Amino acid sequence: TKRIAVLTSGGDAPGMNACIRAIVVASEGAGHTVIGFEHGFHGLLAPNWRKLDSKKVHNIIQRGGTILRSARCEEFKQDSAAKNAAKHLSELAIDAILILGGDGSFRGAKHLSKFWDGQVIGLPATIDNDIYGTDTTIGYYTAIQTAMDSIDKVRDTADAFERIFLVEVMGRHAGFLGAKAAISGAANYAILPELFTDPDETLNDIHQQLSIHRKRYGHESFIIVLTENLWPEGINTLAEKLENLTGGEVRPVILGHVQRGGSPVSQDRILATTLGVEAVRCVEQGKHCIMVGQQNLEPAEVPLEQTWETKKVFSDSLTRTMKTMLNERHSWDLTK
Ligand code: ADP
Repeated sequence: TKRIAVLTSGGDAPGMNACIRAIVVASEGAGHTVIGFEHGFHGLLAPNWRKLDSKKVHNIIQRGGTILRSARCEEFKQDSAAKNAAKHLSELAIDAILILGGDGSFRGAKHLSKFWDGQVIGLPATIDNDIYGTDTTIGYYTAIQTAMDSIDKVRDTADAFERIFLVEVMGRHAGFLGAKAAISGAANYAILPELFTDPDETLNDIHQQLSIHRKRYGHESFIIVLTENLWPEGINTLAEKLENLTGGEVRPVILGHVQRGGSPVSQDRILATTLGVEAVRCVEQGKHCIMVGQQNLEPAEVPLEQTWETKKVFSDSLTRTMKTMLNERHSWDLTK
């Protein structure tokens, strides 16, 4: 049997608890011991940890956040910090560490592996879904649901006042969350890194789409989804520019951290549980320096570095769906 450690790091994501639970239950069933480090990589440095068993992970599958707490830990980027962590892991006789987080946390995991010869395994948990080698990440579906619900609500008020609404969603530097929120919320336009050319072109494009939209549907609401960190001077400047261009009121709405919270939806719970079970299996098989993700609904093992070195891109069908249903929706009109 093995001694397995788990920690959650970086931006938290709904479903992290479901994954911790699965790791503990799967490990306990096979006779392994599990400890949890608290506050991400800080817990490895303190060290700050506690034993986990199935009683401690009872009744947490539905809870957002993470019972182990998460944190950013700038200090961990230094060699001395990773060496210190390695020393603590050796003292605790840990065989394998499972790290739940995004690409930053995986870089940290790889960094640790340079100084510690135990098994290091990553589990993709981020609402941004910006990790190569896995079709989806733990937390992504819940964040889409939250953003979609918000767009629905924005539309109710937008319709009442015939306004243009700009809804900023998270995603860091990737448009996956924005794209899925826009599709499921039936937004009218989306400004996402993957579809973005330059600000002027985007403004002209929106103006054109809006004019056609107005001609066809009258003064109904027009909803634009924007990925954070994308518009050069931020969402308020974009709102002002659009007001000048269209002569109508433009209201910016920043969804912000609500997208990180909430009870995980079923897809995230199932993904988290499946990946937790698979990760314990990988520990038993002696795997090292991999991420356990999911491709085409089957578990997939990917070398850790590949998860950030290779850029995850929109599939052709996602690009087509976005263009057909949103951004170029009315282009055929112009030829009439
Ligand atoms: P996420 O995992 O959500 O992408 P961050 O990018 O904030 O979140 O990274 C989480 C933590 O991972 C950082 O605070 C740091 O402790 C660790 N980390 C990130 N990059 C590195 C690196 N190059 N070397 C070592 N540790 C890193």
